[in-house]
This record gives sequence, C-alpha cells and structure tokens, in this order.
Amino acid sequence: MGAWDSMKMFIIRRRLLANMIPEGCEHPLEEWMSIKARMTFKKNKELRERIGKRVLDEVTRGDFNEYQLFRFREQMRYVQKESPYYRNKFKELDVTPDDIRTWDDLERIPLTEPLDLAENSMYFFAASRTKMATEFTTTGTTGHRKFIGYTVNDLVSKIDIVASALKEVGMEPGDSLHVMFPLVSAWDPSLIMVGACKILGYGSSVCSENDIDKQYSTIKESGSTYIIGLPSFIYRVTVLMGDRIDLRSLGIKRIISTSEPLSESMRHTMEDAWGCKVIDVWGMTEFGLACAVECEEQNGLHTDEANLLFEVIDPETMRHVPDGTEGELVITSLNAEGTPLIRYRTHDIAAMLPPPCDCGARFNRRLRKPSGRMDLQFKIGMGHKIYPLLFDDAVFADKRIVDYQVKISKDGFRDLLTFEVETDSPSDELKGKIIDSVCRIMEVEQGLEEDLVSRPVVEFVPTGSMEYAVKAKKIIDLRENYDKKE
Ligand SMILES: [Zn+2]
Repeated sequence: MGAWDSMKMFIIRRRLLANMIPEGCEHPLEEWMSIKARMTFKKNKELRERIGKRVLDEVTRGDFNEYQLFRFREQMRYVQKESPYYRNKFKELDVTPDDIRTWDDLERIPLTEPLDLAENSMYFFAASRTKMATEFTTTGTTGHRKFIGYTVNDLVSKIDIVASALKEVGMEPGDSLHVMFPLVSAWDPSLIMVGACKILGYGSSVCSENDIDKQYSTIKESGSTYIIGLPSFIYRVTVLMGDRIDLRSLGIKRIISTSEPLSESMRHTMEDAWGCKVIDVWGMTEFGLACAVECEEQNGLHTDEANLLFEVIDPETMRHVPDGTEGELVITSLNAEGTPLIRYRTHDIAAMLPPPCDCGARFNRRLRKPSGRMDLQFKIGMGHKIYPLLFDDAVFADKRIVDYQVKISKDGFRDLLTFEVETDSPSDELKGKIIDSVCRIMEVEQGLEEDLVSRPVVEFVPTGSMEYAVKAKKIIDLRENYDKKE
C-alpha cells in the first residue's frame, strides 16, 4: 500500500481537527490550536495540574505556554526512548524531561545543528523505517543533504495544519486551489495540499511546469480561486503574463506565497496585477509546509504553536532574546514521530511578536518574517552584511524586471556588485534607476561612503536566458580567498 493509500485509510478512520473548526470562525488557526490544547488538557493530568484549572474554556497565553512545555517534555520522553541520537545526547549531558518546568529551562537542552542532522540522519529517526509513510531528502539552501521521515501520523498532522491554514486564508467550499511548484524534485508539496483540499471539500489543480502559458490555461480551465506557489515563480508569471492578459479577469481571491522569502515590492506588484491580497506562508522542509501563516493584517505570520515551539536566541550567547527582538530562530517539533527535532537551529534571522494581533487573535505568537539566513550572508566594505532579500525591494520596484542575480567581485581593493537583470525592456533609464535605488540601501550607501565599495554595475540579459531554477543562488561571491562566514 502506497503512502497516499494508507494515509487515506487513516483519514477515513480519524476525523481531522481542521474539520472541527466551526463555520464562520474568525481565527481558524487559533481556534484549531485551542482545540488541540483542550484535547491534551482533557487527557493529561500532568497538564491539568500545571494549568491549575478544572475546565479549559478560553485558552490564555499562560495556558498555552503550559501546553507547549508539556508537549516539549512529552516529545523529549519520546525521543529519549526512540531516537538513538537524542538518547545519547541527553544521557551525555544528563538532562531529563523533568528539568523543563519554565520557558527559561529550555535553555538547558542542547541545540540541534542542521549539520548534525545531515551527517546522522538515520540516528535521528525515531520510528522504524517500515513505519515511515514517506522518506525524502532535503538540501535546503546550504547544500547539505538531510534525510527526513514522516510516519502516517506525521502526514495526517501536516495535512491537518495545511487544512487549518487554508481556512485561515479564507478558503471555503466552492473554492479551488491551484498549486504551482515548478521543478520540485525532492518531495512533492502538492500531495499534502491536494489532500487538505480533498478533506475540506475544496477543488484543486496542480501544474508543475515552467511554461507560463500552461500555468495560465490550467488556472482558467479549473476555475481556480486561490493560487499557492513560490513567489519568484508567481512573480514571473505575473510580469510575463500581465502584459498580455488582464490577470484580474481570472477572479483570484488570494495568492499564497510560500517556501521562499516574499519581498514587499514583489507583493505589491502581484497584488496590483491580480487584484487580490498576497498572503505569506512560511515553512521549512524539516517541519512542514505551513509553520506560519499571515493573517489579513499582513503584519507577522501566525505560527503553528500546537505542533511547533518557537524560540529566538542570540546566536553569540545562545540565550533567549525577548519577543520582538531579532535573533536566530530555533524550532522544536512537539508531536513528530518520524524525525522529531529538539531545539533545531534554523539559521534564519527573525523575531517573534507577542499577542494579541490586530486581527483579533488573542494568544498566538507571530513570526516577523525571516529577514535573511545567517549562512547566506556576505560582507561588503567594512563588514556590512548583505543577503538575498536585501536587494529585492530596490530591484523589483520596477515591473519591467523579471528576475536578477548579484555577483560580488573585486574592483582593485573595493567590492563591486554586478546586477545581472532579466528584462525585455533594457534601457539606460532603467539601468540608472536600478543603480540609484541600490545605492540608497544603507549597507551599500555606507560602503560607498567609506570608499570600500564601487558604484554597482547593471548588465541586462533577455527574458528566458536566465534559467528559472528553484532555490537559485541570488548572490554569488566571486572574490577569492574571501571569508564568507560570520
Ligand atoms: Zn493576525
């Protein structure tokens, strides 16, 4: 029996919690988290005692913290038993689940490095390989291959959160989701999205081709009302299609951007062209597709705190930083069976925002969009950090630009940024415009003032000559013997 069949069987037997979210609920995701917390509360004496209430009606932030700490202890107990990697690690450091009583206690548990996972993937597995419903490798942005396993329960849980997230972004019966992920080889996100749509009774269509005409005709033929995909790809379709077709005539209600950073200029161009809001979703292959979902306020992403515990640490001291302060995002899975991860370093720079949210959500902490990965940073001039997302707003401010790449080289003792820009409308005017906006970026401006960075150069390439590739490197460092690490 294939993964999909066994999953279907399981779903038939078990009602997904996403289906328990009442119709017309204003905050489906938070409601879904409350349902999860209440169910755990009912079943576990330990949690009832920690919360100190007889019934859990309206979940407060304090209650939810206790739920998360309880789940954290449970996940620790599980990996201690089932995962050779964590069993050894906890033994070596003499830490036990009972050490975790408060949020500060979390700091006593060692961090998990992505490189450890890449080098010891099999030791992380906490379920036998016969129990895994699916196994896949992920290279992420750093190139290290990690092996991840999902049990049937893991898959159901991923579908459950995606289904809740689809409700959160406003999908209703009668809507149809168009899934457009080109060239994704390692693992197929459409499986989970289509599964979630099926369970909720929504329509769905999938097109994985790079061909934008094919994408357009699939959207039109299947009567899609929602689109989900990589922002760089949807942006490409927007710019190349927008010239020929009035995209607003398709009647798309929402575009969901996922798996890549979404810059504000990209968002505005897409919102303008399609006539709908673009909602950002953040995920990590290690933890699932929808770890955090933006609400209507578009001010921070609501996090899936029922399945994941988010911490932000100072990467120098490894200590917690308060909500609202930027640092490195560290995530713990709270219910995973296949590859549970405890205090996993994401190497993403982000901040957690405290509740409430203007949308009315009461207890859920939001994620301020990751601003850049630590391992994708480069330094120019006197150590000014640059990272891929930094240039998006300056370059994509002009709709004639389809895509771009930055090359860093040496111009004598100065650093030189060369922007290779994909467009069908090259002109000196456009060149000047791009250079001017890039020079206004603080990091570049300071480098210019110090005279350690040369004035950037723009080179045009025609549309289509830059092969569209998922996770293509946006910044390429051509400087020799240059220390790119922190
Ligand atoms: Zn909100």
